Amino acid sequence: MNAAAPKAPTATPTTSIAGAHALVVGCGITGLAAALALSERGIRVTLLERDAEPATETASAAFDHWKRKGAVQVRHSHVFLGRLRNLLRDRHPELLRQLIDAGARELRMLDTPPQTLRGLVPEPGDDDLVILGCRRTTLEWVIRRYVLARPNVTLLGGATVVGLSTEPGCVPHVTGLRIREDGSERELAADFVVDASGRQSQAPKWLVDAGARAPEELTEPSGIVYYTRFYRLRPGAEEPRPDGHPGAADYNWIKYAIFPADDRTFSITLAASLAFPEMKVLARADAFEIVANALPAVARWVDPARSEPIGDPEHPVQAMGGLVNRLRRYVDAHGPLVTGLFVLGDAAYCTNPLYGRGCSQGFVHAELLATALERHGRDWRAVALEVDAGAKRDIEPYYRASLAADRDAQRKAEGRVPKGWRARLATRFFEDGVGVAVRCDPVVYRAFVRMMNMLETPEQAFSRPSVLLRAGWVMLRGKRRNAVYALPPPPDRAAVLAACAALPSR
Ligand SMILES: Cc1cc2nc3c(=O)[nH]c(=O)nc-3n(C[C@H](O)[C@H](O)[C@H](O)COP(=O)(O)OP(=O)(O)OC[C@H]3O[C@@H](n4cnc5c(N)ncnc54)[C@H](O)[C@@H]3O)c2cc1C
Repeated sequence: MNAAAPKAPTATPTTSIAGAHALVVGCGITGLAAALALSERGIRVTLLERDAEPATETASAAFDHWKRKGAVQVRHSHVFLGRLRNLLRDRHPELLRQLIDAGARELRMLDTPPQTLRGLVPEPGDDDLVILGCRRTTLEWVIRRYVLARPNVTLLGGATVVGLSTEPGCVPHVTGLRIREDGSERELAADFVVDASGRQSQAPKWLVDAGARAPEELTEPSGIVYYTRFYRLRPGAEEPRPDGHPGAADYNWIKYAIFPADDRTFSITLAASLAFPEMKVLARADAFEIVANALPAVARWVDPARSEPIGDPEHPVQAMGGLVNRLRRYVDAHGPLVTGLFVLGDAAYCTNPLYGRGCSQGFVHAELLATALERHGRDWRAVALEVDAGAKRDIEPYYRASLAADRDAQRKAEGRVPKGWRARLATRFFEDGVGVAVRCDPVVYRAFVRMMNMLETPEQAFSRPSVLLRAGWVMLRGKRRNAVYALPPPPDRAAVLAACAALPSR
């Protein structure tokens, strides 16, 4: 080594983080991911969760009985991307094994390519392209049992965090939390605090109350409402074999996805564009079934001879609106807004659920925090800056991709054309190039699958020369020659809505 070479920055933390005590707000996926990553580094963790209900005795009972008022999305379709599955495989193999034992399925995405795709041959890295299929309740139940069995993790259920305890300063330092429990308030002290309280996070208000600068916030609607119904295969019945109809498709007025899950269950999500308010009818089970049966791919799954609906008989279809893309930055041009508080997961980056990124983002974010703490110890400012830089690198590209895709979907649903030649060219490239090439070109398809699984950012996946050239070539080939790769046509919206309108009123 050249003696004159500059020294690599020291990795020795100023004060070791091992033995510190962390309070984590929220025992959802991100809170659990944080507890796991921090406790592994020798940090003692207390999870504070406002839902008082303990988890059910078994994972399979969780879907029917576990009350999760604080995370109402738990009974919507979930899929867990390669990014999360690989993190579990590489860092927590025992946890992955327990998930698989509980029925989670490792679904190899390259095993079910579009039927119009030819020439897909195995490549190094393909083993990473595996998603986990199971109900969200199953995933959360197993992770929770695993994390709470760790000696340095405790859960305080029924504890609602109402504010921060801080040492004043132009950048306040967080020294603990104020919690409400059984009707009375008290303070809990800690070395640092993690906010993993999800989409409803009150951290911006807590900061302002503590005299800190408010975080910058960017919010945009995702433009869709989610309608989900769960089913179980009947005894002896099998899942339909691939027949050319994709497991997920976007027909502008309606998007659908089929989610194979654990314990012979699966779910169907129909996502309706806000541009078509009449689709609200999907909240009715009979209307949901009409639309499901009008979609050939879905119809085969929900065929009463093959499967039967399961879930809450009072709410057979789970509906969820208010789905936003939202980013909150807790570091600005002057540095961290507070020290000793780290905001992770949905509380910081919330994206359209259609892309299935939230749980992976929560785990990635938690891992960024644990790595930064290991590196910088109790230098809270350095930790905050490193987590922020890591999130900008590893999470924000997917947030931007969600925004761009949602804006485009809303534009199409509203019948608007892109403004300006650049926007028109980009739209054409993605619709007539990439959009078709994923159904006929193995290089573009693999890039797309890597991006969808958060293994490559959209910029990395789609700016590789091989991908650009192939997608460009497909685009230039023209619509007529590409017609053979088109998605099967959508059902007729007017006919479907007329059938729904003819249903007896309730
Ligand atoms: C309809 C829908 C479908 C989705 N599908 C997918 C998918 O397929 N794949 C995927 O990866 N992601 C999906 N997501 C996103 C995923 O659900 C979230 O990203 C994930 O749940 C975020 O985890 P979290 O722990 O940050 O927040 P949450 O899971 O929302 O957990 C937050 C927890 O904090 C608790 N809490 C809140 N406030 C307080 C307080 N003041 N004091 C104490 N406790 C508090 C809540 O009770 C809750 O338990 C979907 C989301 C939705 C809405």
